[in-house]
Parts: sequence; C-alpha cells; structure tokens
Amino acid sequence: MRGKVWFVGAGPGDPELITVKGRSLVERAGAILFAGSLVSEAAMRWASESCKIQDSKGMTLTEITDWLIEQAESCETVVRLQTGDPSLYGALIEMVQPLDRANIEVAVVPGVSSAMASVAAGVETLTLPEVTQTVILTRVEGRTPMPEGESLVELASHHTTICIFLSITLLKKVQDDLAAAGWAVDSPVLVVQKASWPGEEKVVRGKLSDIRELCRAEKIGSQAMIVVSPTLGSRDWQELKKSKLYDPEFQHRFRKVEK
Ligand code: SAH
Repeated sequence: MRGKVWFVGAGPGDPELITVKGRSLVERAGAILFAGSLVSEAAMRWASESCKIQDSKGMTLTEITDWLIEQAESCETVVRLQTGDPSLYGALIEMVQPLDRANIEVAVVPGVSSAMASVAAGVETLTLPEVTQTVILTRVEGRTPMPEGESLVELASHHTTICIFLSITLLKKVQDDLAAAGWAVDSPVLVVQKASWPGEEKVVRGKLSDIRELCRAEKIGSQAMIVVSPTLGSRDWQELKKSKLYDPEFQHRFRKVEK
C-alpha cells in the first residue's frame, strides 16, 4: 500500500483554528510530522494513540521528505502539519517535488495564516472602501534575497495594506524602507506576537517612528507579524465610506433596489 501525504495548514497557533478538514486528517493520520518551532503541540490533541508523531525541528529538507516517503509506504494518511497556511513561506514546493519524484500522491489543505490572525487580534481590516483594496504579503530581505522589483521601498510606494512576515528582527529596515517610500512618521503600525496563541498573544500598536522602541519594551523579538495599512485604527474613525455591498442604492445579484 502507498499512502497519500497531506500538507495541512495548522493555523496560526490556537488549536481551534485548524480547519475541520485538517482536524479530521490529523485524527485519521498514521503519521504526523509537525514544524516544531511554531505549530503548537496542542494541534496534536486530535491524533490517535497509535499515530507516529515527529517534530521536524532540526531535520533537513531531505530528512523531512525521506521521512514522509517512508511513512507513506506503510500509512494510508500521512500529515505534514505546517504553520498558518502551507503556501506562505513554508517550503511547500521543495517538499512536494521529491514526493512527486517518488510517485507519492500529495494534497494541500489550506490554513488560517498568521496574517489573518494578527489582523483579527487587533480588530482591524485589511481592506476598506476608498482607502485600500489591496493587500501585499511580503518580508524584507534577510538571508533570503528579494527578487527584483520586490523591495519593501517599491512595494510600499503603493500605500496599500502590507503584512510583513519573518522581519521582526529587521524592524529598523522596515521603518527606513517605509519612510523612503513616503509613509509619514506617524503612520500607524500594528505588531502582533503569537497571534491567537491562548494566553501568549501580544498586540503592540505604535507609529512608524516609535514601533521599534515599543516592541523592545515588550521584548518582542520573534514570531511576530508587522502590519502597516492606511486602514489601521479605522474602528475609531468618525466618517467611513461604507461598503457598496450593504449600500441600499447598490443593486446586486441577491438584492434588487426598490424603485
Ligand atoms: N505559513 C505561515 C508563515 C510561516 S513564516 C503563515 O501562513 O502564517 C513564519 C513567520 O510567520 C514568522 O516569522 C511570523 O512573521 C509569522 N507568524 C507565524 N505565526 C505567527 C503568529 N501566531 N503570530 C504572529 N506572526 C506569526
């Protein structure tokens, strides 16, 4: 028998934020490999007693894919649990290619990304009518180089919502790049550490000018999302352009305007 390997988004940390489908795969799995640094072990609470569970922390990519291939020889359902959504900064394709070469069936179950969980933690919106209708998910250049045209200065020149992953230790560069792209020093910035982790989530609100000091004071040096957006704080705005979807004058498929 050859099993199937499922890449499952475990969600941002709160074990209840895995999808129903992800959870039932965890329950069915004969073997689970999880990303130790971020996926809460609590996500394992649904694994069966006989399930083989392994932390991939410390494993190389080849060791990971070898393990998955080996488990698929004896288990019908093998789960690779990934933090957030598997398609974002998750080395998904690097793992899928060796499985394809070994002729092992693969499927992906999406997950709630930490970008969404961070915005939810702050009761913020990624889009707002006539403010911004675009979201950029990115990171700044660290050890992984950014492709041409994707520097934060270039991306930020659009003044859209930007969720910046993997960059909390590079907050100074984020500040400099946003300033270089024309963002005012008092632009609001949201930083969320361990979004959705029960009892561990930290939400820091600041301005472009002081966010680094605020994060330092809160000892936030890892597992954090930086969100900048012209929508931040809109909960307290007096005037909002309301979404057309709920505008009484706006006719759509499910509602006809009464004349
Ligand atoms: N696939 C994941 C991202 C993995 S990259 C997703 O969709 O969320 C790891 C980065 O994600 C971290 O550096 C941090 O920026 C962010 N991250 C992951 N979990 C987080 C959480 N619970 N709260 C805030 N940021 C988180």
